[in-house]
Amino acid sequence: MTQQNITVLGSTGSIGVSTLDVIRRHPDRYQAFALCAHSQVDKLFEQCLEFRPRFAVLRDAPLAAELAARCRQAGLATEVRHGVEALVELSALPEVDAVMAAIVGAAGLEPTLAAARAGKRVMLANKEVLVMAGELFMHAVREHGATLLPVDSEHNAIFQALPADFARGLAACGVEKILLTASGGPFRNTALADLQQVTPDQACAHPNWVMGRKISVDSATMMNKGLEVIEARWLFDAAPEMIQVVVHPQSVIHSAVQYADGSVLAQLGNPDMRTPIAYAMAWPERIAAGVEPLDLFRIGRLDFFPPDFVRFRCLQLAYDVLREGGTAPAILNAANEIAVAAFLEGRLSFLGIPRLNEAVLAALPAAPEGSLADVLGADAEARRLATAMIADGRIG
Ligand code: NAD
Ligand code: MG
Repeated sequence: MTQQNITVLGSTGSIGVSTLDVIRRHPDRYQAFALCAHSQVDKLFEQCLEFRPRFAVLRDAPLAAELAARCRQAGLATEVRHGVEALVELSALPEVDAVMAAIVGAAGLEPTLAAARAGKRVMLANKEVLVMAGELFMHAVREHGATLLPVDSEHNAIFQALPADFARGLAACGVEKILLTASGGPFRNTALADLQQVTPDQACAHPNWVMGRKISVDSATMMNKGLEVIEARWLFDAAPEMIQVVVHPQSVIHSAVQYADGSVLAQLGNPDMRTPIAYAMAWPERIAAGVEPLDLFRIGRLDFFPPDFVRFRCLQLAYDVLREGGTAPAILNAANEIAVAAFLEGRLSFLGIPRLNEAVLAALPAAPEGSLADVLGADAEARRLATAMIADGRIG
């Protein structure tokens, strides 16, 4: 078997570390070609020592110089680069077979798009890419023959439950509904009056999954599920009405597909991202991922509830922007990134997150999605406005 070269965008994050664990288990199949991170020099250096990638990337030149010096001292041949241009280049080089898109937020858009345009196997965790530029990205995938494999656990489950030729159209395949499961996060049953006082640590204490802080806050507001509705719309070319969110607190069913004959096909498993990561890496084969087998007797029961769109305003906003189309999802995504960062820094209350998202959406008209420049323009404008609204105390 020929070894596959993988570029890992966001190698020091939660998904990145799990990806490297799967690579570690299958050295015959996979080689880390480029490891890319924001600013965690120590962690990236350790990863370089173990995985000996051809390239490593950090965000800015001083950090890259520090890492380069340490790599040289350790006798590593790893070449260290910096900046988004390096991410774009190392996602598209001919030697690269697959790219794990696991940067958090809008910062991952350009390199992930570059991987699609270079016709790579794109393993997509970075859902914000599809939220911001779904039309553009899916067009690039089709145009350049890229292979797009969803890593987000729900979308990976849906991908597994759909027929292999689902691209010919969900209706033609007899699909009636996509059942997108959601844990409901840590505040599913918290009294509404108590939500105002919620702290970042409480919001990040997800009942079932250990994840990065941004997606953890998104899970607590259910913005994450909203982003995933938009993600599903693009990945599977599904009409918004076909996507039903199902609150399922145990996170055992990762999502399901309901067919015209009454069948519902679901994918189940322990909440461990190495399952969808390994699936995306090995597809159409299956490989060991280090994940504990699912013990149904220990689980005992599975519960299901309809989502509460009043408590979780962000979920409603996601359906709204999906219907509006154009740059509306990019505007929501940008406002939300600013809101979550401000919440994590103690500058915005938990309930300020949906308020800010809604206020920014109300203030900025959406335009057609257009080019990458249009999307990035809408993103920048929404960030500016959201930042100003927090700074001048309009939203607290
Ligand atoms: P994380 O915060 O743990 O890691 C983010 C990674 O991106 C880090 O390696 C960081 O260094 C890197 N990064 C951030 N900004 C960057 C920049 N400007 N340039 C280069 N690198 C940058 O996040 P995570 O939980 O691993 O999530 C990553 C993505 O995967 C998110 O889009 C998230 O929604 C998605 N996702 C995560 C999970 C999960 O279980 N963690 C599940 C489904 C989807
Ligand atoms: Mg998910």
